[in-house]
Amino acid sequence: MAADLRALILSNVDSAIKHNELTVKIVLYLVNHHNERDVGNIADQLLNGLEKLVEEGELVEVEYALPDSNYRCRSIYFPKGTELRIRQNPQATLGMKIDDDKVQLIKGTVHILEEGLPLCGFTSHIPSDWPPGHIWVGLGEKDKATCPECKAAMAS
Ligand SMILES: [Zn+2]
Repeated sequence: MAADLRALILSNVDSAIKHNELTVKIVLYLVNHHNERDVGNIADQLLNGLEKLVEEGELVEVEYALPDSNYRCRSIYFPKGTELRIRQNPQATLGMKIDDDKVQLIKGTVHILEEGLPLCGFTSHIPSDWPPGHIWVGLGEKDKATCPECKAAMAS
């Protein structure tokens, strides 16, 4: 990535900015001030640049999927050092999933696991074979469970 594109990205992410907004700002800037004509090429370089900056820890990226467009994720970028907190109805529990070293926040029911199986018995499979939307905690963390059946089984 050219040094000036890198600096340009960083100077435009001085607070939260949506991916689309950032792209439009940078493309317009390069077209108007640097007489760039190859918009497709700028967009490609920008994508690579953003990915690299996130990898290097210079930017924080949050991906989200809106309920009406679940098929694809959108992104918001934040400056380095941004602390993220998520507030929503506690019933819509967020779990953490670590995939290829990437931490993903997922919505899901939190079950209590005992000897590899959920206490509520919603499935007879081990967690790696569970459907999406189900995560677990061990007995030691049972207070974090949100599955009512698991909690009832624990109490009985
Ligand atoms: Zn359960």
